[in-house]
Amino acid sequence: MKILVAEDNPLNQKIIKAFLNRNNHHVTIAGNGQELIDLFTLDEYDCILVDLHMPLMDGFEATEIIRKTEKGKKIPIIAVTASCPQEDRMKCLNTGMNDFLQKPVKYDDIEHIIERIEKGFYTT
Ligand SMILES: [Mg+2]
Repeated sequence: MKILVAEDNPLNQKIIKAFLNRNNHHVTIAGNGQELIDLFTLDEYDCILVDLHMPLMDGFEATEIIRKTEKGKKIPIIAVTASCPQEDRMKCLNTGMNDFLQKPVKYDDIEHIIERIEKGFYTT
């Protein structure tokens, strides 16, 4: 799959990319929400993993903008977050995200989510 990952922390970028590359996914990294919008506009992706807390534009704002576009209506968007109390989770769903990944991201968790995306779990 072609996966767009928005994450501002270089170490997390590296870890997520390494996990996804193990299964030969093609990964593009955005360093903040604005970059995410720019990259999303320029190319086609199968899904988006988005960190909630980033400089310039956070994951919530970026998701809202993407969901308002024609090509962004159905793409699976997964929140990646360190603190995810119930309130945050509700906010994610209300903003249009499909699921969450808890930080620190574990290989099994990310693979589980990717498998669900491949099976069309979030798009049917
Ligand atoms: Mg962050």
